[in-house]
Amino acid sequence: MSILENLLSGDPQKVWEASFDVKNLRDEEELRSIADHIQAIKKATKNIDKDSGTDLITNNSPLSFALLKLKFVKDSAGCQCELYPSNPFFNPNKEAEEGLIIISDKVEDAKNWTADYRCACTKCGNKFKVKKVEYHGPLYVWTNLSPPKKKPPETLIKKTINYVRKRL
Ligand SMILES: [Zn+2]
Repeated sequence: MSILENLLSGDPQKVWEASFDVKNLRDEEELRSIADHIQAIKKATKNIDKDSGTDLITNNSPLSFALLKLKFVKDSAGCQCELYPSNPFFNPNKEAEEGLIIISDKVEDAKNWTADYRCACTKCGNKFKVKKVEYHGPLYVWTNLSPPKKKPPETLIKKTINYVRKRL
């Protein structure tokens, strides 16, 4: 079954797994094709989220992050690295292995099971600091150190173009 089929399945286990698939998926085109069905996904998962596990750090379930990411991609809101602060399960070591970020600094405090990272997105150059904390397993608290990029959503650009065209 595809990610979309799983999201629409109504089966909590399949929705759970598909939510992680969305988190890990980076292909913009594939994400966008799933995001086209965001309303149907919301409808099909309306009652599922209540029963699925919510992590205590962000108050977010895997499903609510998946929906956030799909909306982000649909709105062409920017580089996907801007979603790191919304999810404490992005492990910077893994992101670096996949070539998505470069870690410039890492300070480990083995005694307290914590670590501090400095890293940058290889795609857009956004800089982050990441704090690793232990909470029933490792969690990564990402802070975006780069000033927010104000990129208007596509629809606004289209509206503006149409507005200008009418006046030509
Ligand atoms: Zn980026």
